[in-house]
Amino acid sequence: MDVKIFQFNGCNKCFYETLLLKLEDNIKVEFISNPHEWKAESMDVAIITGYLLPNDLDSVQNIQNNAERIIAFGDCTTTGGIFALANQKGHQVTPLKNFVSNEITVDGCLGEIEELIAAINGEESRENRPLCNACKRRATCEYLDSVNRQIEIEDNETCFNDLGFLCNGFIAKECKERCIDYNTPCRGCKPMVERSGVRMLGMFGTLMGNIEMATEHSEKGATDKLADAEDDVTDSLPDILGNFFRFTLPTSGLPRGRMQSSGDLLQDVFTGRLIEELPLIAGLLGGNKSISLILKIIETYEKANNIEISEQTKKYRSELLELETELIEATNNKDAQKYKETTEKIRKIAGNMNLSNVYFGGFKQKIDDNEDFESYKSHIFEVAEGTYKNGSLNYSIDPKGVIKEITIKEG
Ligand code: SF4
Ligand code: SF4
Ligand code: SF4
Repeated sequence: MDVKIFQFNGCNKCFYETLLLKLEDNIKVEFISNPHEWKAESMDVAIITGYLLPNDLDSVQNIQNNAERIIAFGDCTTTGGIFALANQKGHQVTPLKNFVSNEITVDGCLGEIEELIAAINGEESRENRPLCNACKRRATCEYLDSVNRQIEIEDNETCFNDLGFLCNGFIAKECKERCIDYNTPCRGCKPMVERSGVRMLGMFGTLMGNIEMATEHSEKGATDKLADAEDDVTDSLPDILGNFFRFTLPTSGLPRGRMQSSGDLLQDVFTGRLIEELPLIAGLLGGNKSISLILKIIETYEKANNIEISEQTKKYRSELLELETELIEATNNKDAQKYKETTEKIRKIAGNMNLSNVYFGGFKQKIDDNEDFESYKSHIFEVAEGTYKNGSLNYSIDPKGVIKEITIKEG
C-alpha cells in the first residue's frame, strides 16, 4: 500500500512515530516534511500530522484530492491538540475535519502507531474502553474541599479525582502511554465523548459540590474563565482552560478567547498554564527534543530555588539526554529499527513518550526494582514567584504559579 505522511506545523513527534510504519511489510511509506512544496502524485493513504492553520487549507485539499483515504494522526491534527490552547489568545489552530470531509481520526498525544496501522489497513482498532476501566485506582465519591495542584502521592488505590488531582480518565479512552501508571493523572488526550472538556468540568464540579459556568456570550468569547464571580474550582485551580480543554479547545464549542496574544503561538500556548504543568506540556510538544526541553525547564527552576536532586536523579537524567541524541540520529537517518529501540529505552526511564515520569526534583514512579526509590523520588515544591533564565529559556511566574511570559529559543 502506498502511504505518504505529511508533517505540517509544530511538534514532529507524531511524524517521527510514523517511522515505525517502515517496519510493516505491506506498507510503502514516503515522508513529506514540507507539504506546501509537495509535487502532487496519487497515493492510497495520506496521513496528516502536526497542527493546521487556515493557510494550510489549499495544501490539505491538494493532498485529499490525490488520496483514496486521508487520516489525521495525533491530537494536533484531529482536535487542534495542545497547540490549540493558543486559540485562547485568538490564534486559529484548526482540526483537519474543518478542512476536509470523510477523514479518519487517530487521536492521541502521542498518537498510537498500532491504531494508525489498523486505520491504514481498514481495520477496527482495539475496543473502545474507558480509561477508568483499565485503571487500578477506584473512586470514593467523597466531596472535595480543594484541588491539589502538585503531585506527591503515597496513595496508589484511590482515584486521582477523589484525591483532588484532576484526572481526565473519566472522559478518555484506554490508551497505550498510560500516564496514570506513572503517578500522573490523565490529561485527556484520547477523548471518548464529544465536548469532553465540558463533561469533565461537569463531573469535577459535582465533586467540588459547587461550580458556576459562564454562559454569557461576548463577541470575543469567554474561554479564559468559568464564571464572572469567583467559584470554588476557579479559585483552587487557576488555569481552568488548560486543565479541562487541554487538547480539545477548537472542538469544545467554546468561542475563541479574548486574551491578548504575545504574537508568538508557542508563547501563547504556554502562558496562563501552571508551573507544575510545564514539564508535561514540554514533554508533549517538544518533538524529538522534548527531553532536553523538559529538563531545561525543570533544572532552571530547581537551581534558582535550591531544590536538591540526588545523584541517582542526575544519572537517569543524563541517560535520558544521551537517548535523546540517539533519537535525533534515528529520526535524521529515518532509521525505524533504531527509533524503535531508542523509544523503548526512553519509556523505561521516562515512563512513556509523554515523559510522564519526569518531574521537578526527580521522578514520580520507581524505575528500577532494585533501587531505593527514596533516593530519586520527586517531592512537592513551593511555588516561587520570579523570573527564571537559562540561556535559550526564560520564563516568569506569578505568586499562584501561573506562567506570565516565556521565551524558548532553539539551542
Ligand atoms: S503535540 Fe502531541 S499530537 Fe501534536 S505532534 Fe506532538 S505528540 Fe503529536
Ligand atoms: S478518573 Fe483517573 S484515577 Fe480515577 S479511575 Fe479514572 S483513570 Fe483512574
Ligand atoms: S493517560 Fe495519558 S496517554 Fe492515556 S489518554 Fe490520558 S493523557 Fe492520554
